[in-house]
Amino acid sequence: MIVTIDGPAGAGKSTVARRLAQRLGFGYLDTGAMYRAVALAGLRTGVAWSSDADVARLAATADVRWQGDRILLDGADVSEQVRSKEITAAVGRAADHPLVRQHLVALQRRAAEGVSLVTEGRDQGSLVFPDAACKIFLDAAAEERARRRVADFRERGEQVDFAAVLADINRRDREDRSRPVGRLVKPADAVTVSTDGLTIDEVVDHLQRIAQSRLSAEQS
Ligand code: C5P
Repeated sequence: MIVTIDGPAGAGKSTVARRLAQRLGFGYLDTGAMYRAVALAGLRTGVAWSSDADVARLAATADVRWQGDRILLDGADVSEQVRSKEITAAVGRAADHPLVRQHLVALQRRAAEGVSLVTEGRDQGSLVFPDAACKIFLDAAAEERARRRVADFRERGEQVDFAAVLADINRRDREDRSRPVGRLVKPADAVTVSTDGLTIDEVVDHLQRIAQSRLSAEQS
């Protein structure tokens, strides 16, 4: 069974998806990390994002794969590196490019062959797995997402300005919703779960109930 979790940046998708996968005993796919790995490969090789030939070469040669929950680029673990501010600022170029998307969508579908998976991103339920048995759209108000980001930074000892974080969230929302292909949309058959005011455990409990009822419906 495939469970897709889509939604805007900062809605808590990664944490929730990982925990849900653990509880269900399913595999877990963080598709944002795959776009981040291609962006890192592009920065390293100095790709010209405006050149289709250059990007096609990059998509064909960047070896992006998973080893458990670690993302590897050309055989090296880049899980931490892809979360850097530099990559967050640059990843839109990779995610906007149809050739990169085509390549990563194929990898995502291959990763789902013959296994049960919780997969999270922007286009998982709408485009990559339109037949998924369980589709979730995880949402939260932009201010709430910005507050959580600020709290995460504080926990790591970094001081950040709320207004700047909120502006960044709004920028990423615009980018996500206006991308030519693979843009963030709520699939018609997805269940919207708003995480405003809920703890992570409460969200995971809720999603687990939804996923298990779909699983039982599939098995009966
Ligand atoms: O979720 P995360 O912030 O790691 O995503 C990194 C980038 O990849 C974002 O710009 C996001 O819009 C993009 N993305 C995408 N399609 C996905 C997953 C992420 O375009 N399925």
